[in-house]
Amino acid sequence: MTNDPPDPRPNLVGVPPSRIANLIEPYVDRPFRARQVGQWIIDRNATGFAEMTNLTKELRDELGRRFRIADPEILEESASGDGSVKWLLRLTDGLTIEGVSMPVDGKLTMCLSSQTGCAVGCTFCVTGALGAGRNLTPDEIVGQYRVMLRQLKAPVERVNIVFMGMGEPLLNTTHLGAALETLYERVSPKRITVSTSGVLPGITWLAGLPRRPKLAVSLNAPDQERRQRLMPIARRYRLPELMAGLRGFPLERGRRITFEYVLISDLNDQVADAQAVAQLIRGIPAKVNVIPLNEDPQYFPEHRRPDDETVNRFAATLRDAGLTVTVRWSKGLDVDAACGQLKGRHQGRGSRKSEGVVDSS
Ligand code: SF4
Repeated sequence: MTNDPPDPRPNLVGVPPSRIANLIEPYVDRPFRARQVGQWIIDRNATGFAEMTNLTKELRDELGRRFRIADPEILEESASGDGSVKWLLRLTDGLTIEGVSMPVDGKLTMCLSSQTGCAVGCTFCVTGALGAGRNLTPDEIVGQYRVMLRQLKAPVERVNIVFMGMGEPLLNTTHLGAALETLYERVSPKRITVSTSGVLPGITWLAGLPRRPKLAVSLNAPDQERRQRLMPIARRYRLPELMAGLRGFPLERGRRITFEYVLISDLNDQVADAQAVAQLIRGIPAKVNVIPLNEDPQYFPEHRRPDDETVNRFAATLRDAGLTVTVRWSKGLDVDAACGQLKGRHQGRGSRKSEGVVDSS
């Protein structure tokens, strides 16, 4: 962590362009300047006002005195043989988060974090084992996207975004909402997915948005008893109520809810479990992502990854029941690509450290 005093200038990253206008209005000569500044930041990924060559030098200097354009700092970048890249990023208060990009179906999927840790405590997740963290601010959320885009030099048309990194995004709805508004300037809501462990009030919030990203829900077990064993938050948001909430979730034409299912050997990987999943989600426009566990003997030695035959049999049973199924064979196993693993390595294996309090905004 740096001992420098915090920079008091407001960061324009993560500020929706419509609100940039309010902030910079007193300093610009023409109203359309705000639009130009917003475009430089989100469309052209500018890292400073000096790049904004369609503004006068005086205006650039004035804006630079009053505002900043700042992203998280890259601490480590690790590329895997399968094309995935993982970053450990440092925030201004010294806390760290992870971001991952993965090639999926000919596109690049950027996996963004929403918190610096996670209080949800799923028993198969390193981030959960590391403990709770604070909510990321809109600039920290959008900043991850900007950093990755720069590093990858990827055309934005090829990019999909998933909020499936560190943290539970629907426990950070205020900042997530502002970040989405900014990201929509560049990435259509159709190409953004918010993945939740099943936080019902957050799902209700999402349902009420005028422009909604896609919804993914971590299911992981077809019954309440096993689900709450794997995901303690399921005690609070129980499976029957969650499924009722999902049945009422408004879906745009052609959209489906994605159910994520981490497959763990001898725990939730049997044919009968697949049949029960199909029964549970029957009637909901859905697809299922089957994710063989990314093992971590240090943090959860009790959980094993099923063999490939079991994984394929599970997926085939779901398909036989008429569901669309994708098996997400783990990407980036050689770069600690599962949620929290890179941070865990930096923080010291086996430590279970909390970085603050989760604000359920
Ligand atoms: S899987 Fe997601 S919700 Fe569960 S502990 Fe990990 S980061 Fe939190």
